[in-house]
Amino acid sequence: MFLMIGVTQGRKDLNHDQLVVCARCGQYGRYKVFMTFTQLLLFFIPCFRWGRQYYVEMSCCGTVYSLDPEVGARIARGEKVEIRQTDLQIARAGRAARMVRRCRACGYQTDEDFAYCPKCGEPLE
Ligand SMILES: [Zn+2]
Ligand SMILES: [Zn+2]
Repeated sequence: MFLMIGVTQGRKDLNHDQLVVCARCGQYGRYKVFMTFTQLLLFFIPCFRWGRQYYVEMSCCGTVYSLDPEVGARIARGEKVEIRQTDLQIARAGRAARMVRRCRACGYQTDEDFAYCPKCGEPLE
């Protein structure tokens, strides 16, 4: 007999509604909670999941935090939990905290991630 077995990465959004002032960009944002996992597919049907990891994404600036797995598991079970800043560890910084850089040659200022000045072509620091 031929068994069709595959392994894929999955992502599932969890139901959680919490309005916070973002520690990163200072605006009001929502915690969007999701989890990722690895799953085993048997004949294309998911039958086993492991390696669950929980994340929080800020709706305001897109900063992603990894969430304390205990808190994440409770949210996944549908419990009303309040996420505290101490449950979060920054995983990917959002677009808020950009540095403005200034070209030494011509004075052009930009917060884009250019390696060279778009105006005069000098390398930016
Ligand atoms: Zn933010
Ligand atoms: Zn320049």
